[in-house]
Amino acid sequence: MKGQASPPTFKVYTQRDLDRIPQLAALPEAMRFEMKVVSTVLPFRVNQYVIDELIDWRQVPADPIFQLTFPQRGMLDPEHYERIAALLRAGAEKDEIAAAADAVRHALNPHPADQMEMNMPRDEEGHRLDGIQHKYRETVLFFPSQGQTCHAYCTFCFRWAQFVGDKELRMASSEAAVLHNYLRTHPEVTDVLFTGGDPMVMKTAHLQSYIEPLLAPEFEHIRSIRIGTKALSFWPHRFVSAEDAEALVALLERVVEAGKQVALMAHYNHWKELDTEVAQAAIHRLRSTGAVIRAQGPLVAHINDDPAVWARMWQKQVELGIVPYYMFVERDTGARHYFEVPLVRAWEIYREAMQQVSGLARTARGPSMSASPGKVEIQGVTEVAGEKVIALRFIQGRNPDWVQRPFFARYDDQATWLNHLKPAFGEEKWFWEDEYAAIRQARLAAARA
Ligand SMILES: *Cc1c(COP(=O)(O)O)cnc(C)c1O
Ligand code: SF4
Repeated sequence: MKGQASPPTFKVYTQRDLDRIPQLAALPEAMRFEMKVVSTVLPFRVNQYVIDELIDWRQVPADPIFQLTFPQRGMLDPEHYERIAALLRAGAEKDEIAAAADAVRHALNPHPADQMEMNMPRDEEGHRLDGIQHKYRETVLFFPSQGQTCHAYCTFCFRWAQFVGDKELRMASSEAAVLHNYLRTHPEVTDVLFTGGDPMVMKTAHLQSYIEPLLAPEFEHIRSIRIGTKALSFWPHRFVSAEDAEALVALLERVVEAGKQVALMAHYNHWKELDTEVAQAAIHRLRSTGAVIRAQGPLVAHINDDPAVWARMWQKQVELGIVPYYMFVERDTGARHYFEVPLVRAWEIYREAMQQVSGLARTARGPSMSASPGKVEIQGVTEVAGEKVIALRFIQGRNPDWVQRPFFARYDDQATWLNHLKPAFGEEKWFWEDEYAAIRQARLAAARA
């Protein structure tokens, strides 16, 4: 098998290295300049494996993995683009460029869905517990500080703000004790989701310090340990030939043996990510531990806004023993204008893809918007009492009572997010609106206190 004799080393490229990527040297100079402009504002990071094995350079710039990892001019609106381009052309001072980039970033809704104020729990004295998010009763998210980067960055990333060095935008914690204390006092929590960035950039020893203590009897209520990762796509060697790959496999085996569910929430956007030998070897290795790999990822223009791509990806996942889990709607942040797909179109893509696959691949839910009130799924377009409507439901909600109740929006084929939709049938409010407003007020008041 390729790569097993001498394990490849991880080699990463950022904005400074754009001129050092041989495949880019073959592209027009104007295109490299555009990439420099965009990556002055938005994070850019790619590695040798993605460049050499996932991108088909004959298809650039249309290649989906190129679009997934390399900055594109259209990601900034023309006014923002020109502002930064002019400074670079004029050879402006570093500080001036940095200030302009910062101003543009702040115009890009760096914190969608009120994440900072609405989801961060507090201790008894009201101190914010950095690195923990607790939005839905049964699931706690934890952001270990060593896992707040990724092996490469997705151009559409909704966590982009934390990768551009703005400390106040980071949500990380290095305190295993903070997590463990929180879980000890919250018996309603059954699932812990380690997320980032990508927790799989961490050394196994770090991961172990967070996870292993959860096997103690006092954490009997924690039934599932989920780890969100894109390493299966961006650096599968992590699971196969990395020096602590064995230790990671052993750790996951111990968790499974202790009777807990281990779920790798693998981020995939395209079947091309599943096609290399090393990607398949990594999947095989992880599955051999008893962990279940579930696949999720957003639907994004220029990368996967095509039912055939989703059908082939889901079918391939099932063949490899992966369970398709979520199709997400691209969030309202960062370069969303470049990547967004109207909700009605998203549903059509979902539906057409579903029609092409077997029942085993029809486990993916979606298209789902992770909005502040909850995860809202677009169930379809239909007609009720003579009115064309979009049927919706909560898959997750701030109040579990909202979950699985159908509700209806006026038909709108341009809307790309929940806040663009209006209730159908001339109603003034959503059924959950007053209650959500009350929850929101209470949370914001607590955050200010
Ligand atoms: C999606 C999500 C979860 C997990 O939801 P499931 O439907 O159980 O996968 C937990 N917390 C947050 C903030 C989420 O967005
Ligand atoms: S893997 Fe996830 S966190 Fe990392 S850049 Fe991609 S979308 Fe963002």
